[in-house]
Amino acid sequence: MQYRLILLFTIALCSFTFSKAQNADLKASLKKHVEILASDSLQGRGIGTVGKTKAVDYIASHFKAADISSIGPSYLHHFDKMDQLSRISLTNVVGLIEGKHPELKDEYIVLGAHYDHLGWREKKKGEDDITIYNGADDNASGTATIIELAHLLAKEKMDRSIILVAFDGEESGLWGSAQFLKDSIVDPSQIKMMFSLDMVGMYDEYGGVDLTGLDLLMNGTAMLNQANTHQVKINKTGDKKENRTDTKSFLDKNIPAAHVFTGLDSPYHKPEDTAEKLDYDGMEEICILMKDFTIYMANQDELVANQAVEKVFNPNPTFTVGYKLGIGTSHLSYKESSLRSKYGIGIETGLQTQLKLSKSLFLATDVLYEYSKNRLETGNINLHSLTVPMQIKLKTKYTDAYSPRLFVSAGAYYSYHFAQGMDMLDELITEDNINDDFGICFGLGMELQRFTIDYTWRRASNDMISDENMFSLSRNTSKFSVGYRF
Ligand SMILES: [Zn+2]
Repeated sequence: MQYRLILLFTIALCSFTFSKAQNADLKASLKKHVEILASDSLQGRGIGTVGKTKAVDYIASHFKAADISSIGPSYLHHFDKMDQLSRISLTNVVGLIEGKHPELKDEYIVLGAHYDHLGWREKKKGEDDITIYNGADDNASGTATIIELAHLLAKEKMDRSIILVAFDGEESGLWGSAQFLKDSIVDPSQIKMMFSLDMVGMYDEYGGVDLTGLDLLMNGTAMLNQANTHQVKINKTGDKKENRTDTKSFLDKNIPAAHVFTGLDSPYHKPEDTAEKLDYDGMEEICILMKDFTIYMANQDELVANQAVEKVFNPNPTFTVGYKLGIGTSHLSYKESSLRSKYGIGIETGLQTQLKLSKSLFLATDVLYEYSKNRLETGNINLHSLTVPMQIKLKTKYTDAYSPRLFVSAGAYYSYHFAQGMDMLDELITEDNINDDFGICFGLGMELQRFTIDYTWRRASNDMISDENMFSLSRNTSKFSVGYRF
């Protein structure tokens, strides 16, 4: 019995020490990669530098050491870009870990990180030295993590295939990731999820890690929580489309993509973004999280894009047209008279348009057919009108596709009464003395994706009907409307 206990204890101790040792290795490896990639000899990995070529060789040699496959004859995906007058050669480094499932192996999860940075600049006049932008956090950190993920995931048996890719030309305009899709290195429709690890070296200072856009994949956050057995601190997920990193190229093709990120706390795009400032314990945490999460996702029965990823809905278009339907009241009020009128029904329908003036200001113009029953003590006036309200709309900020935007609006309108019907006892009111009306309008409401609901109130500033001696009447309407924007 005692022997067995001792044996168990020894095994436990060994495996504990082993896992500790393995983690110590992981952290040391990540640090080594960053120190090399962000060293002065790599010249800031700028376009056209020898340093960037060295980075390519370094990454490719690690993919080879990890024994992962290439797609095609080598890990290197070369392409050219024209920049003003010169042709620039660029290179993505692409590795593949093939899935084991007969069908799911044709589906891919892409783990990407751009390895390029800003290069170097000549110092100011009088100094003959150069300033190197080492780009440790941006993005030697993500590249180092991709290299270690290649080593870690190569040992795993997974259903789906994993692509590890170090993108070139990100800083110049997301060139590498766009070209990767354009050249169909794998069939883009088979890519189920993409991650861009871009700036992951400030975990502790940032207080966790973001996976912005993870919920563009159905159940993204729920799956992450299942897979996150090491309790890595997640700062935020959500379904916001991150357009500032390589995720954009994938989102443009309706592929769910998330930005793995630890904030802008490092000296962003400054020469001071150097290797010794990074949090390597944090990078290790993120690396383990991405390993566990990738394995978890790779073995799911299905990975489905959330509808929000589709480009059918653009949250902030410059111009939209839609239709709306409103119902409410129309009311004629007497001025300077003890006579009273009653509320009648009002219905309107037609087109609504919106022109973006700034992030939160919009010019909203509607063209509406309006029917109103205007009730007086002596009878009714039924009006058929063409009403055009023009308003400035102030909206709350867009956060994500599921949060409504509230708005208030104010402006002016004109109602052209093109037909009327009367059953009126009062002989002073005839069809001839009905004028068009115009005035001010106010509204408030809410937009959710393509749907709008609002309440608008219009008050005429002229007299719709006036009899010089007796009375004058002006019209107010209020409507509750629902709308849909194309
Ligand atoms: Zn970056």
